Amino acid sequence: MKNLGEMLLRQDSFSEIVLGNTALARAMIESGTEVVTSYPGSPTPEIASALLSVPGEKRPFYFEFSTNEKVATEVACGASLNGHPSCVFFKSVGLNVAADSFVQLSLLELEGGLVAVLGDDPGANSSQNEQDNRHFARMAYIPVLEPSSPSEAYRYYLEAMALSRRKKMPVILRMTTHVCHGKEKVAFGAWKGGAVSTESRFDTSGGPMVPLTAAALEMKRRALARLSLAGCEMDSPAFCEVRKGTDSSRGVITAGLPFRSLLDVLEDSRRTPDILKLGVVYPLPEKAVEEFLRAHDQVKILEELDDVLEKDIKALAFDRGIRVTIVGKADDDDRIGEYTPDKVAEVLAKTWPDMVPLRGAKRQPSLAPRPPQMCPGCGHRSAFHAIRQALSKEDITVADIGCHVLGYLPPYEMGEVLLSMGHSTGTGAGLSLFNGARKVVSFIGDSTFFHAGLPGIVNAVFNNHNLTLIVMENGTTAMTGHQDHPGAGRNANGPSEAIPVRGVLEGLGVKSIREVDAYSQGKLIELVKEAMAEEGFSVVIARHPCMLKYTREQQRNPDYVRKSVEVNQETCDRLHVCVESFGCPSFQRDEDGGVNVSRELCIGDGSCVQTCPVKAIGLRKENRGGEKA
Ligand code: SF4
Ligand code: SF4
Repeated sequence: MKNLGEMLLRQDSFSEIVLGNTALARAMIESGTEVVTSYPGSPTPEIASALLSVPGEKRPFYFEFSTNEKVATEVACGASLNGHPSCVFFKSVGLNVAADSFVQLSLLELEGGLVAVLGDDPGANSSQNEQDNRHFARMAYIPVLEPSSPSEAYRYYLEAMALSRRKKMPVILRMTTHVCHGKEKVAFGAWKGGAVSTESRFDTSGGPMVPLTAAALEMKRRALARLSLAGCEMDSPAFCEVRKGTDSSRGVITAGLPFRSLLDVLEDSRRTPDILKLGVVYPLPEKAVEEFLRAHDQVKILEELDDVLEKDIKALAFDRGIRVTIVGKADDDDRIGEYTPDKVAEVLAKTWPDMVPLRGAKRQPSLAPRPPQMCPGCGHRSAFHAIRQALSKEDITVADIGCHVLGYLPPYEMGEVLLSMGHSTGTGAGLSLFNGARKVVSFIGDSTFFHAGLPGIVNAVFNNHNLTLIVMENGTTAMTGHQDHPGAGRNANGPSEAIPVRGVLEGLGVKSIREVDAYSQGKLIELVKEAMAEEGFSVVIARHPCMLKYTREQQRNPDYVRKSVEVNQETCDRLHVCVESFGCPSFQRDEDGGVNVSRELCIGDGSCVQTCPVKAIGLRKENRGGEKA
C-alpha cells in the first residue's frame, strides 16, 4: 500500500491487505460518515492514524480527538442530531467515562445515525481490566454487531451505519484487539466521493428532546421499539451463519474472535460440530438461535469473557421449552483472557475432548516474557529516580494512567494503587484522611490531567485535602501513540490554543504550585520535599518532553547528530546506581560487574550523568565533536 490516504479515497472497488482498524476507516468514508470523534486508546488508535493520513483539504469528514470519551460521544451525538452520519470510537474502559451520556443515546432520534466503535480488550493487553462492554448494550438499549475479521469489520460497519440511519438509533460495533490489529485482504466497494453536507437538520418540531418526567418514559418506550425492530431485521442469514460439521448432534454458538479460533482448532479434527456464527450479539437473534437449538442434542456456547450469550440463550431455551443440553462456561478460567486457538482448544476440551485434536505442543510458541519499561531517556525515569529520594518508605504513592504508570515497577516502585483515568487525586485524598503519619503523593500525566483529572483537583481544593500531586508533563498522549492533547498547541487538524497546565491549576484555585524540568533531579527532590512539608493540597509539575517523540522528530532533521554516553571503566566503582536505581535500559552489566552503555538504545540525553556518585558517566568521546547518524 503506497499511500494510505490515497487508498482510503479510491473511488473504484479494490482489494487490499489491511488492518481491521484501517478497514474501518475506509468503511467510514464509503458509508458517508461525516463526523468522527475519539479519545485515543488501544486497540483503536490506528483508525485515527488512517483517517488522518488523508490530507486535510481532501477529507470528506471532520475528525477530532476530544478531551475524553464522554465529550467525544457528545460531539458525535450533537452532529448526528444535526443530520450528520457520525461515529465515535474509543477503547473498552473509555465507555465507563462516556457512560453518563452514552446510556442516554438511544432515547434520542439521531437524525444522521451514529455508530459507536468500541475496542474491547480481552486479555487486558493495554487496559486495567478486560471488561465486556456487551453488558452496556443491554443497559443502553443499543444493538451490537461483532465482527470476527477485518473483512467483517468493514462490512458490519457499513451495515451498522445503514441501520443507524434508517432507524435513527445508535448502533455499537464491538471490536476486540485481535480483530482491530489482525490483517487480511479486504474487498472494498466503490465510493462515489462527496463532501460534508452543510445543511442543518436539527429539528425539535416534535417536541424538545429532554428526557425528564413523563417524557423520559415515552422516549424509553420508543427506544425499546426501535431496538426490537432492529433486532428482528438482524435476525437474518446476513448476521447468523450456519456451518455444517461432521457431527450433526452437537453444535457451537459463537461470535467474534472465538469463531476464527474455533475454525483453527477444528482444522485437524475428524469430529466437528455444526457452528452457528453470530454477527449480532445483542439483541439475541432469537429465530436463528431457536432453530439451531432445536436441531441439536447438545450446544456449546463459546464466547470470550462473560456469559452474556449463554444467559440469553439459556433463557430462550427455557421460555420456549426447547429440549437441548446447553453447555456454557465450565469454570472461572473460561471467563479470563483472549480466546486464541490454544485457549479455545483448552475450553472446548473441557466439554468435548474428542473434538480437540491432540497436539504435542502449543501451536503458537509463547514468546519470552518482556516486561514493559520506560524508553531510554524518558523524563519520567529521571523524575521517579529523584522523587524516590524525596520520599520516606512509609509514604503512600498513587499511580494514574499513562506511561508513568510504569513507575510501579522496580526499581522505582512508586504508584501503589491504580483505578482509572484521572483517579489519582481523588484516591489520594481518600488515603490522606485520618492519616497524619504517612504523606500521600499522587501522580498524573498531562493528557490524563485534561481528560478526567480536573474534578479530583477541584475537589482537593474545595475540600482542602492534604496531599501532593505531581503532574508528569511530557506534552503529549504518549502511551497511545503521541496524540496531541489540549496543552499541546495543536489538535488533529492543525494549530490550536495551548491550554497551560499551570494556568488551569491556578484557575482552579490551587495556591501551591512548583515547576521544574524532570531532568533537574536535585531541584525536583528539593521541591517535592517542600511541597510535602506543607499542609493542604500542593502540586509539583515535573516537565520534560516525551523523549521518544522528541528523538523521532530530531531524527527527521538531516543535520541530526546521534549521541550516546559511555562509562569510564577506570572511574567506575561498580556501584551500579545507574543500573539498579536509575534503571535506563541502555545500561548493561557485564559478568565481571562492569557497566556498558548500548549505543543502539542510548539517545545521549545525559539525564543519567547526574546519577553516578563517582561521575563515571559522560558523553562518548567521539560525540563530543558530533557524529552523523
Ligand atoms: S513514550 Fe515517551 S513518555 Fe512514554 S516511556 Fe517513552 S519516552 Fe517516556
Ligand atoms: S544518556 Fe543514554 S544511558 Fe543515559 S539516560 Fe539517556 S538514554 Fe539512558
